[in-house]
Amino acid sequence: GELGPEQTGTVVSHFGQQLDVEAADGTRQRCHVRSNIDSLVTGDHVIWREGKPTGVVVARQPRQSLLERPDNFNRLKPVAANIDRIIVVFAPEPHAHANLIDRYLVAAEACGIRPTLLMNKSDLIDVNRHQDLIAMCARYEQIGYDVIHASCANDDGLAALKAELRDHISAFVGQSGVGKSSLVNALLPGTETKVGELSEATAKGRHTTTAARLYHFAEGGSLIDSPGIREFALWNLDHQQVLEGFMEFRPFIGHCRFRDCSHAHEPGCALLAACEDGAIHPQRMASYRQIIASLDNQ
Ligand code: GDP
Ligand code: ZN
Repeated sequence: GELGPEQTGTVVSHFGQQLDVEAADGTRQRCHVRSNIDSLVTGDHVIWREGKPTGVVVARQPRQSLLERPDNFNRLKPVAANIDRIIVVFAPEPHAHANLIDRYLVAAEACGIRPTLLMNKSDLIDVNRHQDLIAMCARYEQIGYDVIHASCANDDGLAALKAELRDHISAFVGQSGVGKSSLVNALLPGTETKVGELSEATAKGRHTTTAARLYHFAEGGSLIDSPGIREFALWNLDHQQVLEGFMEFRPFIGHCRFRDCSHAHEPGCALLAACEDGAIHPQRMASYRQIIASLDNQ
């Protein structure tokens, strides 16, 4: 059929061989992809042409970031492109473990995407019962991370969160039960996250909902969301990436006496010295060791 002129667009969802592309004016069209272009994902900026019944994507533009995860055969597969803000969600219930939060932070840093922390369910905070949690938030702020407090139950902090999301393409990550769905529903009223309709047959014939979708917030900014992105984790990282994922460790990396220092017990370890001096919190050092140990045991 006839094809329109080349124009820019953004992939807003993808399923199998087809995807939906959004034009600069906000209109969307189902497209197929020229076979010389490899794996396009939600968030990709593309050059495409309108057509009937489907348009065609003719080129992919360079990516600013790429989120990947392993498939059933442990091969890394792209999941979403051009996310520039990962919101690590935690809450008083289920109890927030610093080590788990550190894993999300390291994973985001390894992708070169700036993480922001979001403590949801602020309505449940009791200053007497949750002193540990409050201290943990202060620790992350001291390191240099933004920590937003919000509640889906009483709208506390949602205005600040909306302001934070403006001008960014964000993704929400965090353990089950912290309120990611509730946040998405509060921020995107009327938009059910219909991930079921994007079901895709996997190599094993099982149906999983892996496809990501791009949404626009009314106040500005976008969200890329899928069950796979919410479970974002430390896939296939090496020791150096984990080390550099601890933002406040960076000034000390490379200054240990031994080149192969494991930062566990060696004399002349710059990180352990920083820990002694208070520049690195012992909890973060413990998290680092726990993550390295878990990677070694994989
Ligand atoms: P997800 O697994 O991270 O998507 O979490 P959900 O959005 O499904 O929320 C898990 C539970 O926490 C649900 O029962 C929600 O109603 C509840 N919840 C979510 N946000 C809040 C909040 O801000 N305050 C309170 N008290 N409960 C919340
Ligand atoms: Zn060291």
